[in-house]
Amino acid sequence: MSRTVYVNGQYVPESEASISVFDRGFLFADGIYEVTAVLNGRLMDFEGHVARLHRSLNELNMHLTLNDNALRDIHRQLIEKNDLQEGLVYLQVTRGVADRDFAYPDASTPVTLVAFTQQKAIIDSPLAERGLRVISLPDMRWGRRDIKTVQLLYPSMAKMEAKKRGADDAWLVESGLVTEASSSNAWIVDHDNTLITRELSRSLLHGITRRAVMQLARQHDMKVEERGFTIKEAQNAREAFVTSATSLVYPVISIDQRSVGDGTPGDIAKALRRLYIEAGLSVSSSEAEQGA
Ligand code: PMP
Repeated sequence: MSRTVYVNGQYVPESEASISVFDRGFLFADGIYEVTAVLNGRLMDFEGHVARLHRSLNELNMHLTLNDNALRDIHRQLIEKNDLQEGLVYLQVTRGVADRDFAYPDASTPVTLVAFTQQKAIIDSPLAERGLRVISLPDMRWGRRDIKTVQLLYPSMAKMEAKKRGADDAWLVESGLVTEASSSNAWIVDHDNTLITRELSRSLLHGITRRAVMQLARQHDMKVEERGFTIKEAQNAREAFVTSATSLVYPVISIDQRSVGDGTPGDIAKALRRLYIEAGLSVSSSEAEQGA
């Protein structure tokens, strides 16, 4: 089925959508993005994703003239036009079109804004059932991983290396400590049932799902510690898992071929996944009641 996508103010069939070869997103990876999950036709944690979008824009001195209501409207229209029940909305903003030059173009150059939907089974996910096998790799990305840029080549290479070695994903390690996974935040659960995930800094993306899961955990009287951990500590942990908008919570069952816990998805990861889905669906239905 051909999708309807959004390009610079217009909704067009995907086959008719185009951007310039001089777009700085294409030439310099000079762009940022957000991915918001859709459950039951409703957006999950949209406010968090828009807040992070603004943060990324500010850090890179990009100016978006659309306000948050307009952004929400684009998301909703895409969901409606594509009859999306479950999946995601991808939104990308680049510094626009200009002659190729390392220096930024004039600030009056309009940004490029592209958005599209993608269908994905998020709730009934085979990977959530089975759990992920991950490998560790050195974190070779740049030093501003807190900005959600479209510069995703190293994470792609890491994912391919993981697949080549028969695993599902890679956890990235810097100075002996795990920063995050190739496209999600990394967590472990110690033998006192404390949840541990790395503290926020420029070394990792400030995950919206990380924050939501942390809140849920605290609401349910679970202890959360924000600190780095080694691969060895993770291998010896009771459980391990990852969080991201479209995986929600995926248990991790092995790291570098060593089983974590008994090598099956852990109870805490499964419970957090269930709680997050329930919270998302209840927000979704209250939004629906308000006709939002
Ligand atoms: N870290 C990285 C490197 C990511 O690419 C992502 C997802 N895009 C995340 C963490 C998770 O962030 P979020 O929960 O906001 O999807």
